[in-house]
Amino acid sequence: MVHVPARPPAGAPPVRINLYSDTQTRPSPGMKEAMMAAEVGDEQHGDDPTVHALCDRMAALLGKQAAVFLPSGTMCNVIAILTHCRPGDEILAHETAHILSSEGGTHAALAGAQIHPLQGARGMFDAETLRAAIRPRTRHAPPQSLLEVEQTANIGGGAIWPQAELDAVVAIAREQGWATHMDGARLMNAVVGADIPAAEMVAGFDSVWLDFTKGLGAPLGAVLAGSQEFIDTAWRWKQRLGGAMRQAGICAGACLYALDHNVDRLADDHANAKALSRGLRQIPGMVVEEPDTNLVFFEPSGAGIEAGALVKALRLQGIQLSMLGGRIRACLHLDVSAPMIDETLAAIRTAVNR
Ligand SMILES: *Cc1c(COP(=O)(O)O)cnc(C)c1O
Repeated sequence: MVHVPARPPAGAPPVRINLYSDTQTRPSPGMKEAMMAAEVGDEQHGDDPTVHALCDRMAALLGKQAAVFLPSGTMCNVIAILTHCRPGDEILAHETAHILSSEGGTHAALAGAQIHPLQGARGMFDAETLRAAIRPRTRHAPPQSLLEVEQTANIGGGAIWPQAELDAVVAIAREQGWATHMDGARLMNAVVGADIPAAEMVAGFDSVWLDFTKGLGAPLGAVLAGSQEFIDTAWRWKQRLGGAMRQAGICAGACLYALDHNVDRLADDHANAKALSRGLRQIPGMVVEEPDTNLVFFEPSGAGIEAGALVKALRLQGIQLSMLGGRIRACLHLDVSAPMIDETLAAIRTAVNR
């Protein structure tokens, strides 16, 4: 039996305040205009000028030689793994990594690779933990070939890896001869939050990608970047997996629009996340994780209401949150305004006091 997302409870009104995910944004009128105006061609044949413009711009932004446009972040991860690893290889990643928990086991199903799950607070691990996971190079041990990190760490609460920690784990990978891959689904949240240029932040990574559907407002699309050689191989996998597209410029146009209009404003989402966490903290018994970026994880542990019951009570008022492993997650994005945060806090206070 495969789990199907639950339908809204009976009698629930339409969602007015969507804190469920930064993937549920709708393309804005300006973005739709940019899509309508995009020059298009056959992307699979290398003839789509808007896709080329997006890939060139992303390669420059990330300080890499080349980039490829893909339909989703999941395809970026699986293509990176297929390109970096051989069957039997081991990938080193955090135990809560998206590649391990949320991609249907593609690393195993398609690449024949296994993941060594590393522990550490907030979706990150330190150099010492990584060093302890190095296997001897014997005929018995699986060859370790890839270090993977998430920036920001999703289940880690949207945490930003401190640059020194990133540099330290990359240094171990280099010393061991492993490739390095960054799952940058929310990379620009880290870039805006830490105020470090993207190219500098990802300099130690052989491959890195950005999702345009996570808080950047685009309807689909992600861009994977790396060396020319890496991208040439990635393109072969894109073709094999059926990810080569046709008039994809209509979507690349949305991504270019997102780069122009929706990156700097991520700071507003971070401010809204802080405001939400401050308000939650004032509710007795509420356990709140301090947000680095746009995700706020909290638990009403001592507030006299069960997490699931609180989520349901809010949903009945048109406010949607998600539950992840017993914790509640609020996700801030461009369709959530500051007054909506006040309204959400008021609704939570009412539900808790009932
Ligand atoms: C959403 C997400 C992905 C997958 O991206 P899709 O575009 O949904 O396929 C991968 N990694 C992280 C950390 C994510 O949050």
